[in-house]
Amino acid sequence: MKAVVFEKHGGPEVLEYTEVPEPKAGPGEVLIEVKATSINHIDIFLRRGMPGIKVPLPKIVGSDAAGIIRQMAPDVSGLTVGQRVTINPGISCGRCEFCAAGFGSQCTSYAMVGENRDGAYAELVAVPAHIVLPIPDSISFEEAAAAPLVFLTAWSMMVTKGNIRPGEDVLILGAGAGVGTAAIQIAKMTGCRVFVTASNDEKLERARQLGADLLINYKTEEFDKKIRELTNKRGVDVVVDYIGADTWVRSLRSACRGGRVLTCGATTGFAPQTDLRQIFFRQVQVIGSTMGSQRDFLDVMKCVFRGQLKPVIDRVLPLREVRRGHELVEERAVFGKIVLN
Ligand SMILES: [Zn+2]
Repeated sequence: MKAVVFEKHGGPEVLEYTEVPEPKAGPGEVLIEVKATSINHIDIFLRRGMPGIKVPLPKIVGSDAAGIIRQMAPDVSGLTVGQRVTINPGISCGRCEFCAAGFGSQCTSYAMVGENRDGAYAELVAVPAHIVLPIPDSISFEEAAAAPLVFLTAWSMMVTKGNIRPGEDVLILGAGAGVGTAAIQIAKMTGCRVFVTASNDEKLERARQLGADLLINYKTEEFDKKIRELTNKRGVDVVVDYIGADTWVRSLRSACRGGRVLTCGATTGFAPQTDLRQIFFRQVQVIGSTMGSQRDFLDVMKCVFRGQLKPVIDRVLPLREVRRGHELVEERAVFGKIVLN
């Protein structure tokens, strides 16, 4: 089969579209013919190499996948060959105390498709049957491949852990990222007032179309000062920050007393300067989140399938043009997701 593989870490040029052996469905697994996958930041971090994390090479990344079940292990039931499906990219054991409590992403053996096993930048991917979710005919493969990772991440962080409530003010940094486009819609659906930042007015206008109420261009305005001005010095109830190093202290300053700062990533660096006074004097809660539980996944995908939440697709590229896709994401020249088919 054709797949995108890298044998060493580096820039987009290490990604090779090439022929590799077909995977097989092991016990408890299904084999999916991938009709679409999408690019996430985890793919880029794995391609570049991450300090302290050994990535076995050669590697096929790609955590999101939508396609058709082509083969099932004999012990799999409840699914059928030929079914249109997507996946929850997170795999938890189902047996430990965290899984028993419904917190699958805190599982001691939590693993990701495309990180701990071969991913979906390929014509075929084998995955455990328990992460497979059938999709309705009203959803395209491209939409089904754009949604899971970013919508699960945003939902679990904001709804389950961040406990956002109707009427609250929510600030989302970096409106154009995949998680940002999901976070705006989830906050709006909940009944929050949504503040967003972006690097240019075009992205801000698109964020407004998704439901953002108040727009801040962070190139022309310091967003924490603007938040204080817009909220009459109060600050917002919730800040969503996956930018990291460049924004962290300003995020803390933007929260109201007792507010929550939610973090699910650090695209500009993971070791920011911090200011503990902003946390203890102002009683700000910092809440970390990664991925989410199977319950979160089913809840958020239900909203996607009903059309209440819409995956935002910047463009669709053929899998062989994956290098271009990675370049566009790294240049932040995208609004929403890049899908590969
Ligand atoms: Zn577990």
